Amino acid sequence: MSGTYLGMPSFPRAAADSTRDMRLRGNLRHATHTIRAKRAQAVEELGDWAELREAGAALKERTLRHLDHYLEQLEAAVTAAGGVVHWAADADDANRIVTELVRETGESEVVKVKSMATQEIGLNEALAKAGISAYETDLAELIVQLGDDLPSHILVPAIHRNRDQIRDIFRKQMGSWGRAAPEGLSDDPAELAEAARLHLREKFLSAKVGISGANFMVAETGTLVVVESEGNGRMCLTLPETLISVVGIEKLVPTWQDLEVFLQTLPRSSTAERMNPYTSTWTGTTDDDGPSAFHLVLLDNGRTDALADTVGRQALRCIRCSACLNVCPVYERAGGHAYGSPYPGPIGAILTPQLRGVQSDLDASLPYASSLCGACYEVCPVAIDIPEVLVHLRERVVEGGTAVVRGQKTKIKPAKGHAAERALMRAARWAFDHPRAMRAGQRLAARGRRFTPRRLPVTAAGKAWSASRDLPRPAPQSFRDWWRHTRRDGGGSDAPRTGKESAE
Ligand code: SF4
Repeated sequence: MSGTYLGMPSFPRAAADSTRDMRLRGNLRHATHTIRAKRAQAVEELGDWAELREAGAALKERTLRHLDHYLEQLEAAVTAAGGVVHWAADADDANRIVTELVRETGESEVVKVKSMATQEIGLNEALAKAGISAYETDLAELIVQLGDDLPSHILVPAIHRNRDQIRDIFRKQMGSWGRAAPEGLSDDPAELAEAARLHLREKFLSAKVGISGANFMVAETGTLVVVESEGNGRMCLTLPETLISVVGIEKLVPTWQDLEVFLQTLPRSSTAERMNPYTSTWTGTTDDDGPSAFHLVLLDNGRTDALADTVGRQALRCIRCSACLNVCPVYERAGGHAYGSPYPGPIGAILTPQLRGVQSDLDASLPYASSLCGACYEVCPVAIDIPEVLVHLRERVVEGGTAVVRGQKTKIKPAKGHAAERALMRAARWAFDHPRAMRAGQRLAARGRRFTPRRLPVTAAGKAWSASRDLPRPAPQSFRDWWRHTRRDGGGSDAPRTGKESAE
């Protein structure tokens, strides 16, 4: 795996490879099941979890409805506190702004605290092209960077690696990025953590520029919030002279008080902790304390397009807790790389096609990367109805239609390879609109049920669909017919006639 998402295949093709990797599946199963069980316990401790979830969803929903207002309020507050706000319409804009800001400092190295927004825009690659080295300081991100790899989980980006692999990466790669791994480094977690600590400390102490994301931005005060577990965030946010934060515009909350909800739900949903070990907040700049220059780059990159979609916009409520990944049977088997985006799992399957569109094979395949079992919705602390958005996006893929792209209403063409699905859905719609024809069809199917094939040989998609499932055999009697018989018999029969089906 090389460290770029460019040219990645569609989800089914990537998943066909990753599901054969037994070591990857073992690592993922162990990690997701452990986190899942701990999360359930942490959530159970709170008697008002359901109310908190509802409050989080309502707060985010309301903020998104008035996003323009809160963004302006935030800009005014950050500016008044000594920060500078930059607006980035897309990834190129954001990368250009950050590169220029680093160049102005005269530095050629930056330290970063984990930021999904900067992964989304490919900031490290853009900085590298400008001769600037970006060092990831989150332990898992460090493992990913040293291994020339890609993150595969929102919270635990190196979840696909086990201890042996991490030891080998540290031994081979640490020396070429800075302080080498200690002689005889073993796979003991404490030794691995110490090696990373020593390696990173040199970076923290020498870096003059820090780059971060943020979990939340408070509109009323212009405050940014980062929650993390390792303390690397605190180092990146306080030691450098210049701090640049790249944050998606949806990360806003109106007031400090709103944080009360999310600082309870986020740690329990993500790391199963009652509170995050480090919660760092900063507002502009302060004389002789922390960075003397602060820049906030507000990133759109498809978010206002998603906002225009009344069904899809709920994806913007996401607080990146990763609970939906840890319960997803598809993610557990396919792993994060198959999603071809920094946002894997169920949230990636609804967010990426909205941020990037559904034109490429990969992006058009993502809304199908789900069994629609609904486990993701059950655990989501901001009640995003992920299955609803998946179905909505599938319709966009199959039927096309109107969507907002780069601020313009645009007619989207149906994606390639879905003609049979489209024809089938249209036939189904026609049949449901014509009850007589539907009844006749059901009776015909019941009579010929013994000739029903177990596989769909018609198209590649049909073959794929029935390769791992049997085509259900039509019932010997439809519900309508059973109902009519039951009524005619005066309610004597209390169950549908099942014929021989139980023996089949
Ligand atoms: S969609 Fe919900 S569960 Fe998934 S990462 Fe976002 S907030 Fe967490």
